[in-house]
Amino acid sequence: MDLPVDERLRDLITRAEAARGFMPTDEGLALHRHAAEVTVDGPFLEVGSYCGKSALYLGAAAETRGRILYSVDHHRGSEENQPGWEWHEPDLVDPATGLMDTLPLFRRTLHEASLERTVVAVVGDSPAVAASWATPLALLFIDGGHGSEPAHADYEGWVPHLVLGGTLLIHDVFRDPAEGGRPPFEIYNRALESGAFAEVAATGSLRGLQRTGRGI
Ligand code: SAH
Ligand code: MG
Repeated sequence: MDLPVDERLRDLITRAEAARGFMPTDEGLALHRHAAEVTVDGPFLEVGSYCGKSALYLGAAAETRGRILYSVDHHRGSEENQPGWEWHEPDLVDPATGLMDTLPLFRRTLHEASLERTVVAVVGDSPAVAASWATPLALLFIDGGHGSEPAHADYEGWVPHLVLGGTLLIHDVFRDPAEGGRPPFEIYNRALESGAFAEVAATGSLRGLQRTGRGI
Protein backbone atom coordinates (compact mmCIF):
# COMPACT_ATOMS: atom_id res chain seq x y z
CA MET A 1 0.00 0.00 0.00
CA ASP A 2 1.26 3.48 -0.83
CA LEU A 3 2.36 5.65 2.08
CA PRO A 4 1.02 9.18 2.53
CA VAL A 5 3.35 11.74 0.89
CA ASP A 6 5.02 13.08 4.03
CA GLU A 7 5.61 9.57 5.44
CA ARG A 8 7.07 8.44 2.13
CA LEU A 9 9.45 11.41 2.07
CA ARG A 10 10.47 10.83 5.68
CA ASP A 11 11.14 7.17 4.91
CA LEU A 12 13.35 8.03 1.92
CA ILE A 13 15.33 10.66 3.82
CA THR A 14 15.85 8.22 6.72
CA ARG A 15 17.09 5.62 4.23
CA ALA A 16 19.40 8.17 2.62
CA GLU A 17 20.90 9.07 5.99
CA ALA A 18 21.52 5.39 6.74
CA ALA A 19 22.91 4.47 3.31
CA ARG A 20 26.61 3.92 2.77
CA GLY A 21 28.46 6.67 1.02
CA PHE A 22 29.94 10.11 1.17
CA MET A 23 27.26 12.69 1.86
CA PRO A 24 26.81 14.44 5.22
CA THR A 25 23.16 14.87 6.19
CA ASP A 26 23.04 18.67 5.86
CA GLU A 27 24.48 18.47 2.35
CA GLY A 28 22.15 15.60 1.43
CA LEU A 29 19.14 17.59 2.57
CA ALA A 30 20.37 20.57 0.53
CA LEU A 31 20.76 18.25 -2.47
CA HIS A 32 17.18 17.13 -1.99
CA ARG A 33 15.91 20.68 -1.65
CA HIS A 34 17.66 21.87 -4.82
CA ALA A 35 16.13 18.98 -6.74
CA ALA A 36 12.68 19.52 -5.25
CA GLU A 37 12.80 23.17 -6.35
CA VAL A 38 13.85 22.85 -10.01
CA THR A 39 11.87 25.26 -12.17
CA VAL A 40 12.54 23.78 -15.61
CA ASP A 41 11.46 20.60 -17.41
CA GLY A 42 13.65 17.56 -17.91
CA PRO A 43 15.22 14.65 -16.08
CA PHE A 44 17.93 14.81 -13.41
CA LEU A 45 21.38 13.24 -13.76
CA GLU A 46 24.07 12.51 -11.21
CA VAL A 47 27.65 11.42 -11.88
CA GLY A 48 28.85 9.20 -9.02
CA SER A 49 26.28 6.68 -7.73
CA TYR A 50 28.54 4.64 -5.41
CA CYS A 51 26.09 2.77 -3.13
CA GLY A 52 23.10 5.05 -3.77
CA LYS A 53 23.24 7.57 -0.94
CA SER A 54 22.91 10.74 -3.02
CA ALA A 55 20.55 8.88 -5.37
CA LEU A 56 18.10 8.53 -2.47
CA TYR A 57 18.21 12.24 -1.63
CA LEU A 58 17.81 13.22 -5.30
CA GLY A 59 15.47 10.32 -6.10
CA ALA A 60 13.05 11.37 -3.36
CA ALA A 61 12.71 14.76 -5.08
CA ALA A 62 12.55 13.16 -8.54
CA GLU A 63 9.64 11.02 -7.39
CA THR A 64 7.74 14.01 -6.01
CA ARG A 65 8.38 16.06 -9.15
CA GLY A 66 7.62 13.21 -11.55
CA ARG A 67 11.13 13.14 -13.01
CA ILE A 68 13.67 10.43 -13.77
CA LEU A 69 17.07 10.49 -12.09
CA TYR A 70 19.84 8.96 -14.22
CA SER A 71 22.70 7.84 -12.00
CA VAL A 72 25.98 7.35 -13.89
CA ASP A 73 28.85 5.25 -12.50
CA HIS A 74 31.16 2.52 -13.80
CA HIS A 75 30.90 1.14 -10.24
CA ARG A 76 34.63 0.39 -10.15
CA GLY A 77 35.36 3.16 -7.66
CA SER A 78 37.38 6.34 -7.99
CA GLU A 79 41.13 6.48 -7.49
CA GLU A 80 40.65 7.22 -3.78
CA ASN A 81 38.41 4.13 -3.38
CA GLN A 82 41.06 1.68 -4.59
CA PRO A 83 43.00 -0.66 -2.24
CA GLY A 84 45.64 1.25 -0.31
CA TRP A 85 43.84 4.61 -0.68
CA GLU A 86 42.10 6.61 2.02
CA TRP A 87 38.49 5.84 1.06
CA HIS A 88 38.80 2.11 0.28
CA GLU A 89 36.10 -0.23 1.65
CA PRO A 90 37.42 -3.81 1.26
CA ASP A 91 34.01 -5.52 1.37
CA LEU A 92 33.11 -3.74 -1.89
CA VAL A 93 35.70 -5.73 -3.84
CA ASP A 94 34.20 -8.48 -6.06
CA PRO A 95 36.29 -11.58 -5.21
CA ALA A 96 35.71 -13.00 -8.70
CA THR A 97 37.42 -10.09 -10.44
CA GLY A 98 39.43 -8.47 -7.64
CA LEU A 99 37.83 -5.16 -8.68
CA MET A 100 35.56 -2.78 -6.80
CA ASP A 101 31.89 -3.36 -7.58
CA THR A 102 29.31 -1.08 -5.96
CA LEU A 103 26.52 -1.96 -8.40
CA PRO A 104 24.95 -4.78 -6.28
CA LEU A 105 24.67 -2.51 -3.24
CA PHE A 106 23.40 0.38 -5.35
CA ARG A 107 20.63 -1.82 -6.77
CA ARG A 108 19.71 -3.18 -3.36
CA THR A 109 19.49 0.34 -1.93
CA LEU A 110 17.11 1.42 -4.70
CA HIS A 111 15.05 -1.76 -4.49
CA GLU A 112 14.59 -1.45 -0.73
CA ALA A 113 13.51 2.18 -1.17
CA SER A 114 11.05 1.26 -3.97
CA LEU A 115 12.76 3.78 -6.23
CA GLU A 116 13.62 1.46 -9.12
CA ARG A 117 11.15 3.15 -11.47
CA THR A 118 12.43 6.63 -10.65
CA VAL A 119 16.19 6.10 -10.54
CA VAL A 120 17.82 4.59 -13.63
CA ALA A 121 21.34 3.21 -13.28
CA VAL A 122 23.62 4.06 -16.18
CA VAL A 123 26.66 1.79 -15.85
CA GLY A 124 29.70 3.01 -17.73
CA ASP A 125 32.54 5.46 -17.99
CA SER A 126 31.13 8.95 -17.48
CA PRO A 127 32.85 10.79 -20.38
CA ALA A 128 31.92 7.97 -22.77
CA VAL A 129 28.25 8.17 -21.73
CA ALA A 130 28.28 11.98 -21.89
CA ALA A 131 29.70 11.94 -25.42
CA SER A 132 26.58 10.28 -26.83
CA TRP A 133 24.01 11.74 -24.42
CA ALA A 134 21.22 13.72 -26.10
CA THR A 135 18.52 14.47 -23.50
CA PRO A 136 18.48 18.01 -22.05
CA LEU A 137 18.78 17.94 -18.25
CA ALA A 138 16.97 20.02 -15.64
CA LEU A 139 19.51 19.16 -12.94
CA LEU A 140 23.10 17.92 -12.99
CA PHE A 141 24.96 16.73 -9.89
CA ILE A 142 28.71 16.17 -10.33
CA ASP A 143 30.25 13.85 -7.72
CA GLY A 144 32.32 11.40 -9.79
CA GLY A 145 36.09 11.11 -10.02
CA HIS A 146 37.80 13.91 -8.13
CA GLY A 147 41.15 13.83 -9.94
CA SER A 148 41.90 16.68 -12.30
CA GLU A 149 41.22 14.75 -15.49
CA PRO A 150 37.89 13.11 -14.49
CA ALA A 151 36.51 16.25 -12.83
CA HIS A 152 37.21 18.47 -15.86
CA ALA A 153 35.99 15.73 -18.23
CA ASP A 154 32.70 15.60 -16.31
CA TYR A 155 32.37 19.37 -16.51
CA GLU A 156 33.06 19.42 -20.25
CA GLY A 157 30.97 16.35 -21.03
CA TRP A 158 27.86 17.03 -18.98
CA VAL A 159 27.42 20.76 -18.41
CA PRO A 160 26.46 21.45 -22.08
CA HIS A 161 23.44 19.15 -21.54
CA LEU A 162 22.02 21.35 -18.79
CA VAL A 163 19.12 23.53 -19.97
CA LEU A 164 18.93 27.29 -19.36
CA GLY A 165 17.49 27.77 -15.89
CA GLY A 166 18.73 24.31 -14.89
CA THR A 167 20.52 23.50 -11.64
CA LEU A 168 24.20 22.54 -11.45
CA LEU A 169 25.33 20.95 -8.18
CA ILE A 170 28.98 20.21 -7.45
CA HIS A 171 30.16 18.23 -4.44
CA ASP A 172 33.44 18.36 -2.50
CA VAL A 173 34.23 21.96 -3.35
CA PHE A 174 37.00 23.04 -1.00
CA ARG A 175 38.54 26.48 -1.26
CA ASP A 176 41.33 25.49 1.14
CA PRO A 177 43.52 22.68 -0.31
CA ALA A 178 44.12 21.45 3.27
CA GLU A 179 40.46 20.36 3.40
CA GLY A 180 40.41 18.34 0.19
CA GLY A 181 41.43 18.01 -3.46
CA ARG A 182 41.19 21.00 -5.80
CA PRO A 183 39.53 19.72 -8.99
CA PRO A 184 35.91 20.10 -7.81
CA PHE A 185 36.78 23.66 -6.75
CA GLU A 186 38.37 24.24 -10.17
CA ILE A 187 35.27 23.17 -12.08
CA TYR A 188 33.08 25.24 -9.76
CA ASN A 189 35.27 28.23 -10.69
CA ARG A 190 35.07 27.31 -14.35
CA ALA A 191 31.30 27.48 -14.14
CA LEU A 192 31.35 30.88 -12.44
CA GLU A 193 34.04 32.32 -14.72
CA SER A 194 32.14 31.21 -17.81
CA GLY A 195 29.53 33.84 -16.98
CA ALA A 196 26.81 31.27 -17.69
CA PHE A 197 26.13 30.43 -14.04
CA ALA A 198 25.02 32.23 -10.91
CA GLU A 199 25.67 30.79 -7.48
CA VAL A 200 22.44 30.03 -5.67
CA ALA A 201 23.52 28.37 -2.43
CA ALA A 202 26.38 26.73 -0.56
CA THR A 203 26.00 24.01 2.08
CA GLY A 204 29.19 22.49 3.44
CA SER A 205 31.15 21.41 0.36
CA LEU A 206 28.05 21.40 -1.86
CA ARG A 207 27.64 24.30 -4.30
CA GLY A 208 24.38 25.03 -6.07
CA LEU A 209 24.43 27.07 -9.28
CA GLN A 210 21.83 28.01 -11.84
CA ARG A 211 22.52 28.17 -15.55
CA THR A 212 21.68 31.70 -16.60
CA GLY A 213 23.55 31.97 -19.91
CA ARG A 214 24.71 30.02 -22.94
CA GLY A 215 28.48 30.43 -23.20
CA ILE A 216 29.94 27.72 -21.04
N1 SAH B 1 27.43 10.34 -4.67
C1 SAH B 1 27.94 9.24 -3.91
C2 SAH B 1 29.46 9.18 -3.84
C3 SAH B 1 30.15 9.06 -5.18
S1 SAH B 1 31.82 8.52 -5.00
C4 SAH B 1 27.35 9.25 -2.49
O1 SAH B 1 26.42 10.02 -2.23
O2 SAH B 1 27.80 8.47 -1.65
C5 SAH B 1 32.41 8.72 -6.63
C6 SAH B 1 31.93 7.66 -7.62
O3 SAH B 1 32.35 8.09 -8.91
C7 SAH B 1 32.50 6.26 -7.42
O4 SAH B 1 31.45 5.35 -7.19
C8 SAH B 1 33.23 5.96 -8.75
O5 SAH B 1 33.06 4.63 -9.21
C9 SAH B 1 32.60 6.95 -9.70
N2 SAH B 1 33.46 7.30 -10.82
C10 SAH B 1 34.73 7.80 -10.76
N3 SAH B 1 35.20 8.01 -12.00
C11 SAH B 1 34.22 7.63 -12.87
C12 SAH B 1 34.12 7.59 -14.29
N4 SAH B 1 35.10 8.00 -15.09
N5 SAH B 1 32.97 7.11 -14.84
C13 SAH B 1 31.96 6.68 -14.05
N6 SAH B 1 32.00 6.72 -12.70
C14 SAH B 1 33.12 7.18 -12.11
MG1 MG C 1 31.35 13.64 -2.92
